[in-house]
Amino acid sequence: MVNSARLTLQLQSSCQYSFFSKKQSIPCTIFTHISTKCSTTLAMSQKKSEELLVVVGGGAAGIYGAIWAKTVAPNLNVVVIEKGKPLTKVKISGGGRCNVTNGHYVDNLILAENYPRGHKELRGSFFKMHSPTDTVLWFSNHGVILKTEDDGRVFPVSDSSSSIIDCLMSEAKKRGVVLQTGNVVMSASATTGRNFSIKIRKRMSEHVENVEANYLLVASGSSQEGYGLATQLDHSIIKPVPSLFTFKIDDMKLKELTGVTLNRVKAKLKLETVKKNIPQLTQIGPMLVTHWGLSGPVILRLSAWGARDFSDTGYKGTLLVDFVPDIGADDLHALLIRHKNQFQKQKLLNSYPSELGLVKRFWKYILDRQGFDEDILWASVSKNFLFSVATLLKSCSFEVKGKGQFKDEFVTAGGVPLSEIFINTMESRIHSNLFFAGEILNVDGVTGGFNFQNAWSGGYIAGISIGKLAAAAKVEEGSDLVCS
Ligand SMILES: Cc1cc2nc3c(=O)[nH]c(=O)nc-3n(C[C@H](O)[C@H](O)[C@H](O)COP(=O)(O)OP(=O)(O)OC[C@H]3O[C@@H](n4cnc5c(N)ncnc54)[C@H](O)[C@@H]3O)c2cc1C
Repeated sequence: MVNSARLTLQLQSSCQYSFFSKKQSIPCTIFTHISTKCSTTLAMSQKKSEELLVVVGGGAAGIYGAIWAKTVAPNLNVVVIEKGKPLTKVKISGGGRCNVTNGHYVDNLILAENYPRGHKELRGSFFKMHSPTDTVLWFSNHGVILKTEDDGRVFPVSDSSSSIIDCLMSEAKKRGVVLQTGNVVMSASATTGRNFSIKIRKRMSEHVENVEANYLLVASGSSQEGYGLATQLDHSIIKPVPSLFTFKIDDMKLKELTGVTLNRVKAKLKLETVKKNIPQLTQIGPMLVTHWGLSGPVILRLSAWGARDFSDTGYKGTLLVDFVPDIGADDLHALLIRHKNQFQKQKLLNSYPSELGLVKRFWKYILDRQGFDEDILWASVSKNFLFSVATLLKSCSFEVKGKGQFKDEFVTAGGVPLSEIFINTMESRIHSNLFFAGEILNVDGVTGGFNFQNAWSGGYIAGISIGKLAAAAKVEEGSDLVCS
């Protein structure tokens, strides 16, 4: 086995960012028992080389996991290998503000319902071990004050993702995490003795370094290389497909409404490949008209819940929109009759029931779409007119021709199946000492901070699990020495 202490020094020599340990003590409130045991054996166990954790990926899950592993086991060597710059997605997320988590869910069962992939598996220990409240507490305890907006999204009060990045980087540095940037983990295999043999291609060169690690945390997000590593380590990969995208709709008249927000619609996505009724393929909430088609929370949620089936249909489907979900069909009809009787001398375009809550531009779209002359008077409209307007408002059909990309958030569905890991430790069911966290897993959330929460919770659980194993190994090692 390669001496891990020597290895760490080698790694540091090529680092863009190198953080050297200042030997932090474990917070007493959380890990008092480990801390006490460690301190009694420290003198003896220091004679042996320390163990090494290699973290693949310096994103949210990897850096947070590394910090927690080092928090629990300060003597563990923790090296994060990042092929680009660390925390890149944190930087660009939430339009540069970083939507860290979601503050509207105290009940973990309801919180889990925001994950189209993971909603069943994440109901139990996952958020119990590290919830959005824990995330908010951790950041505020480390100097980043967060605020919750009306829709539940949590941001730093600075409205800058740099606050989150600076906090994580400074804590990683303080804990002694080594960060190596610009290097790619090319391959990994399990060796006998529960170790991992890892090949790392050095930055800007063809030089490949062989490393042997005691623990491996794969937190490589949605990168192909990461999926490759998981397969080399005998895991399967559920085909990755995009989630959180807008719908492309070719409708010139709709395009004229670009920028209009419909505050509350009920939209149902119908896909040829989906025969059974999936409740989540109907969503209620705001919808936005864009030059490309339709967007907004309702559309993004539909894209997430329909991600896999949508991919199978080549992103073709039908969207049925109820623009007045709070008014029943009969009441709507009665409302239109009342309006006709009351406003006989008004032109169709200039007058419509305010109860519909629609902007004039949108009312015009409805009239145009049915081919009605907007200049005729209400007095002259027929029963058929009233019926077809009511029908259109309650069930307006749009042909979805493809997917666009949502600029603020984007995530990949698919990856390592959750059935192949223990959720309460994030350890592989196939290889001991191998852990996964973040987007590499087949977990993705709807928009609103849920995807980062998956990274924080997964990173935390993996980090403390590894830390506990390392601390226990150290105690054992110390005991051996005492006994011999
Ligand atoms: C534009 C955009 C905005 C977003 N906004 C939000 C938001 O506001 N709120 C929210 O909750 N979610 C948001 N998301 C989703 C969120 O960013 C991800 O879910 C989250 O970053 C996943 O964290 P991760 O650590 O698992 O993966 P990542 O953040 O992708 O980190 C993985 C890291 O691993 C590195 N890596 C991969 N393979 C290797 C290898 N072989 N060797 C070395 N390094 C490797 C990558 O370079 C990367 O830095 C957004 C996503 C995008 C694209």
